[in-house]
Amino acid sequence: MAVSDHVDFNQFMEGVKRRNSHQPEFVQAVQEVAEDIFDFIQDKEAYHEAQILRRIAEPDRVVSFRVCWEDDNGNIRVQRGWRVQNNNAIGPYKGGIRFHPSVTESVLKFLAFEQTFKNALTGLPMGGGKGGSNFNPKGKSVREIMRFCQSFMTELYRHIGADVDVPAGDIGVGGREIGYMFGQYKRITNQFTGVLTGKGLEWGGSLIRTEATGYGAVYFLANMLATKGQDLTGKTAVISGSGNVATHAAEKIVQLGGKVLTLSDSGGFIHDPDGIDQEKIDWVKTHKTHRRGRIEDYVNEFKGASFHAGKTPWGVKCDVAMPCATQNELLGEDAKTLVANGCIAVSEGANMPTDLAGVHVFKDARILFAPGKASNAGGVAVSGLEMSQNSERRAWKEEELQQMLKDIMSGIHATCQRYGDQGGGYIDYVKGANIGGFKKVADAMLAFGVV
Ligand code: GLU
Repeated sequence: MAVSDHVDFNQFMEGVKRRNSHQPEFVQAVQEVAEDIFDFIQDKEAYHEAQILRRIAEPDRVVSFRVCWEDDNGNIRVQRGWRVQNNNAIGPYKGGIRFHPSVTESVLKFLAFEQTFKNALTGLPMGGGKGGSNFNPKGKSVREIMRFCQSFMTELYRHIGADVDVPAGDIGVGGREIGYMFGQYKRITNQFTGVLTGKGLEWGGSLIRTEATGYGAVYFLANMLATKGQDLTGKTAVISGSGNVATHAAEKIVQLGGKVLTLSDSGGFIHDPDGIDQEKIDWVKTHKTHRRGRIEDYVNEFKGASFHAGKTPWGVKCDVAMPCATQNELLGEDAKTLVANGCIAVSEGANMPTDLAGVHVFKDARILFAPGKASNAGGVAVSGLEMSQNSERRAWKEEELQQMLKDIMSGIHATCQRYGDQGGGYIDYVKGANIGGFKKVADAMLAFGVV
């Protein structure tokens, strides 16, 4: 007699916690999904019989390795690297690489788990993975970064491949780092394949990949507002972060007629009541990416703006908010403040930036709230299009790609509406994204039997 997994939610989460003790971010990500999936699979015996929920909460594999490199002073340095290959039921593992001192196995497991559902929502054939290292790029010379990337790839290359696992960038990994890693992969394997995405345009990269995550998150926001008969014209926006996602989200909001009030980094946030226009955004892009500067320098450049050290921007009154920095940067109290100040929509540009308490505040207030796995999927979606272009050995035009990105974001929005419509005009986008992503992956897993 087969044992079915008709355990209750608390029993299930107890098991997840026991098996992943000391991995709070991973447990949090599983809980957020399981809260919605439990209801959905209640009466669907096939999922229970196949223990799908239990299996989906366990990565296919976690590879951990040592990364040695030599700094400019001739010291030997040792970091830990990982690749989490979470699930390849619907396509090769796909997901970014993060270099940041906060990276742990827990963080990468949560990111790979989220990535699996996000990638499924795009409608493209990509499984979920994530990798990275606790290496801190801050303050390192360009040559040190190159040597670290080469050493990282010298181990990683044996685990990846264009049809196996296709990494990309994430926090601390941009075009430059992808270049160093791609160069090393090509040198070791003697193969020029689409093994990484986010590549330079001269060597297999795709147009609009850089802009895609931020732009996509704003398209999703516009889709949500449209369900209420509204758009971004004249709306004030509070954005956190000042990297690739935040600056491109800001750019698209400005293009669509909104006014961006804030940006931030780990030192604090800047508030510009006059609005952060395109010229100011361009300055931030150059300052943060090329000069590797701090956001606080903004106030010396643009009059009327203020810097708030050590603070997040959620106390600034706004119509819409976009957390675009990192996980757990918007907490329960911040969510309450946003709602009390009249914020009507939140679109996550980062992965899991809102903690569980915050998610519950937004759900209870029934505001428009898009989880990152839906709203920030534009980046990986264009990565998927980069893979297609590499397979075809050609490059699509910018207008074609812009349209595809818009269509993919509208498709994800429609999936969320389909599974998250609670009646009375309220769409639970968290539930819609979780069920929409889960169903595709789980049905593929069912087809493969017990593997
Ligand atoms: N790191 C991005 C994300 O969180 C992009 C991943 C990719 O393009 O593979 O979705």
